Amino acid sequence: MSKKKGIERLIRPELANFGGYSARTAPDTLEGKVEVPVESIIKLDANENPYGFSPKVSRALATYPDLNIYPDDGQTRLRRLLEGYSGVAARYIVAGSGSNQLIDLVARLFLSKGDEVINCVPTFGIYRFSTELCGGRVVEVPRDENFAVEVAAVKAAITKKTKIIFLANPNNPTGAITPRKDILEILDTGLPVLVDEAYYEFSRQTVAPLVGKYENLMLLRTFSKWAGLAGLRVGYGLFPPEIADYLLRIKIPYNINVAALVAVEESLKDIDYLIATVEAIIAERERLFAELAKIEWLKPIPSEANFILCLVLRGEAKELRQKLEEKGILVRYFEEEPLQNYIRISVGKPEHTDALIKALREIEITL
Ligand SMILES: *Cc1c(COP(=O)(O)O)cnc(C)c1O
Repeated sequence: MSKKKGIERLIRPELANFGGYSARTAPDTLEGKVEVPVESIIKLDANENPYGFSPKVSRALATYPDLNIYPDDGQTRLRRLLEGYSGVAARYIVAGSGSNQLIDLVARLFLSKGDEVINCVPTFGIYRFSTELCGGRVVEVPRDENFAVEVAAVKAAITKKTKIIFLANPNNPTGAITPRKDILEILDTGLPVLVDEAYYEFSRQTVAPLVGKYENLMLLRTFSKWAGLAGLRVGYGLFPPEIADYLLRIKIPYNINVAALVAVEESLKDIDYLIATVEAIIAERERLFAELAKIEWLKPIPSEANFILCLVLRGEAKELRQKLEEKGILVRYFEEEPLQNYIRISVGKPEHTDALIKALREIEITL
């Protein structure tokens, strides 16, 4: 099957053509390629918090004395802090170096070579990434024309090999919530369901109270988006306790670094500040939506998250992304169908919205 030579012959054959994940371009790699200095690039491509993190985090990290000591592998303190925040007991909780790591661990726990997962597309790319890395196969169930999950189609796609149903809620990159009754219907299949609530703080809708009531419900959250800690990599999951035990056993030792632990602790001490930034982002999301809707060649899709997917009705979305990048504004473009005519814009500060709208109006002239 593989025509690889030398040492590459020995690579797992199913990984020989593995494409990887297309992560965002770091702004400092754009030096000289954009019309503005790198420092003034406006980053609306990765759903990061434009207000940054709590100032308590940097103060605590500056004087943290024990970087030479390994963190607690059992995450005891962190899980207790997360219990306080999520309202779900510590024995249900496992933390990951980003929730991406938990997606990967769940895939490793359930998937053997040839197993299947169900993905309601378009959706977050890591589900496919981790599934294929485990030798699993993604069965795609397209969402309807409003990007809503087709529950009947999900059920029809189940086979003897199905091991996980992935459900981002709100979905990335489309932004909408799946109604609770649809989630319950999917849970009633009895298969492991991973509900990814990365944007929970923006949508304020959750199925966390159901964790433990359904033995097949697993739920993910992250500090990357609302708490501004994307760079420190910390997320957590709520799992049935026996699944949490397995995950704790198969995870890499010391997966949460001490800086991330300190950052979570300080963030939770400063929750009022952080929630105020979340509220500012929600308010700005509504303003950004209204501004985008005024541009007749764009059609923004309503969102419960901190980004807005936008259909481009004139010209090509890919080219629009490029033109915005030249003006120093980064937005997300997806190569794959059915998103080829869309861009995804993260909600920034009011001045970012103003700069974006101005740039769109300038680009409009050349379309
Ligand atoms: C951003 C995002 C995550 C977060 O990943 P981290 O590894 O916690 O940074 C998880 N799921 C979805 C759907 C996301 O959009």
